[in-house]
Amino acid sequence: MTNSLQTQVPARPALVVPEMPEWPVLSAAETAELKERIKTLLREQDAALVAHYYTDGDLQALAEESGGLVADSLEMARFGTETPASTLVVCGVRFMGETAKILNPEKRVLMPDLAATCSLDEGCPPEGFSAFCDAHPDHSVVVYANTSAAVKARADWMVTSSIALPVVEYLAARGEKILWAPDRHLGHYVQRMTGAEMLLWDGACVVHEAFKASALERVRALHPEAAVLVHPESPDAVVDQADVVGSTTQLIRAVIELPNPAFIVATDAGIFWKMRQLAPHKTLIPAPTAGEGATCESCAHCPWMAMNALQNLERVLRLGDREIQIDPAMRERAVRPIQRMLDFARERGIGGGASRLGRA
Ligand code: SF4
Repeated sequence: MTNSLQTQVPARPALVVPEMPEWPVLSAAETAELKERIKTLLREQDAALVAHYYTDGDLQALAEESGGLVADSLEMARFGTETPASTLVVCGVRFMGETAKILNPEKRVLMPDLAATCSLDEGCPPEGFSAFCDAHPDHSVVVYANTSAAVKARADWMVTSSIALPVVEYLAARGEKILWAPDRHLGHYVQRMTGAEMLLWDGACVVHEAFKASALERVRALHPEAAVLVHPESPDAVVDQADVVGSTTQLIRAVIELPNPAFIVATDAGIFWKMRQLAPHKTLIPAPTAGEGATCESCAHCPWMAMNALQNLERVLRLGDREIQIDPAMRERAVRPIQRMLDFARERGIGGGASRLGRA
């Protein structure tokens, strides 16, 4: 990458981050009753529930109890194509529902809240991105899963954080220059690891960009026995302190497999549900997001992921009104980079059934 190219990256668009939604607190009996009602609706509607690791623990539990899946973006995409269910209910953010629909156009794809988006998706508008691609026709376009269908339709490859490194290594070995979007922190990490020539879009995740390196140093000093786990959407100075850098699945696996009794975790706090389920004896310490003197040091939770709850899941199953629709012509273009990634993963044995994290 050269600086002259980097200066041509469009400025980050202004972003409106929603308030964290406040859901009514349910008693244990109310939660159990609501979960039973949802399970009945899932059965009646031939629907499978797939939830991301960052969603509420009740949703993750329900996905597993009802025969669905809790997973990262790569496995969520794959699961939709494997399940015989005619309806997919995606608890996560909008690009996950769109990816499910792109891969399964014949299936009905519902989401509890269609406004649950992502700062990376919001920060990469299709028109500006397409113009950026047009300005660099000699680059292969690699986009992160956290993008709209329209941005994917402009890409050569889609990747998730589980598979970004091997795909970029493969392209770099073929001498290809890469235009990467939208997460500049993940892009920079991939660039450092692979040495690939990459032009980076200036996007960021509001959750992972908030982790603070200086405060993390202080927490590490307090817990020398703890391994530091960092998602690569975090800034370099945080990534550089990590014992393990990886996707959500790779970080959960580290908690299970490493001998450390404790872990400092720099990713969305929703992941703690799965980590506690699979490694109940390990101590989990949230990495700091607000630094010394602040009242909030562990508020790393995505406000868009938090728009998913049992209440609006039950509602969408009852009313069926929050359905993902993708224009067929756009779908035809957007499916190519996704399918290319899935084929690449299958040929190299990356992810898939054996690598899925099960239940405790
Ligand atoms: S945690 Fe970050 S990358 Fe994930 S959905 Fe939220 S804003 Fe997007």
